[in-house]
Amino acid sequence: MIELKNITKNYKVGKKTINALDNVSLSVHKGEIYGVIGYSGAGKSTLIRCINLLETPTEGEVFVDGIKLNDLNKNDLQQTRQKIGMIFQGYNLLTTATVYDNVAIPLKLAGLSKDLIQQRVKKYLEIVGLSDRASAFPAQLSGGQKQRVAIARALSHEPEILLSDEATSALDPTTTESILDLLLEINQELGLTIFLITHELSVIQRLCDRVAVMQDGQIVEQGPVVDVFTQPRSTITKTFVQDSAKYKLPAKFLQTLPEEGVLIHCTFVGISSTKPALAHVATTFGVVPNIIAGGIDQFKNESVGNLLVHLEGEPDKVIAAINYLSGQGIIVKKEGEING
Ligand code: ADP
Repeated sequence: MIELKNITKNYKVGKKTINALDNVSLSVHKGEIYGVIGYSGAGKSTLIRCINLLETPTEGEVFVDGIKLNDLNKNDLQQTRQKIGMIFQGYNLLTTATVYDNVAIPLKLAGLSKDLIQQRVKKYLEIVGLSDRASAFPAQLSGGQKQRVAIARALSHEPEILLSDEATSALDPTTTESILDLLLEINQELGLTIFLITHELSVIQRLCDRVAVMQDGQIVEQGPVVDVFTQPRSTITKTFVQDSAKYKLPAKFLQTLPEEGVLIHCTFVGISSTKPALAHVATTFGVVPNIIAGGIDQFKNESVGNLLVHLEGEPDKVIAAINYLSGQGIIVKKEGEING
């Protein structure tokens, strides 16, 4: 659906050249939600703007639905852009126009008939849950409602792809949840392909099928979300995982643990109650598992369980127990290896 091949983008600032994107390649399948995560300055905004050629890549090729955008003339590019909707952190609404007109005016500019415009505005305001606010002005809406108008406006052109540029970054956690739910609904019910950029791991976890992690204009890691975030390889991905880690144990508590043994993080992908692995470890390997903390992360397609466990026992028995747990498909990391 979207294919970026060896995209490089340089900006000239005075005598300096800023390499915002450095040989980035990725492909997004039809109907999936693909996320790019990275800290500020990583190149995410530049990348998303290359997809609809709001930024022209210095080098590389952009394909949307098999069409090479770089080769298109202005008119054809405009036509192809109709397939691509976009929403932004700042909503970009017309402040002097009503909710209805914010959706209707761009359709009018695109040359749609009055009837069709009415039909589309009604349909998409209903989908985003704002039918009763059609005559309100943006200043009378909450941040979440403004983003819903922006989503209705993007959808009203009936695009095949929705680009989301930090769409929930300015919203509080509850409103963020409701907008993420809406994006999931749009993806599933309208079959829209969504490409989003964010600096928040939780957004990727909730929405995305696959993810790319960006740093200094490069993709340092990409793959299915559960794989990338349960077994991070690059330092930057580990930092994202670490930043969201729930288990920050007080030093005083750690001092109360028995000296013989180790503290391990166990990650269970696809939670199953059929394998009592820790109980097995206790009876077979002669170690005592003491569960310190635990929780379940809900990814888009998978639940992932996390346990922080102290395994008390002699070193060779602890090693045998860890090997057994790993052999059961549990991802085991000793405390201290988490950032390693
Ligand atoms: P992110 O979205 O991940 O914060 P950006 O794509 O905005 O990253 O920026 C990547 C790099 O490119 C940064 O160093 C930024 O300062 C630079 N950059 C982005 N846009 C421009 C521009 N129009 N002119 C000059 N430098 C830019």
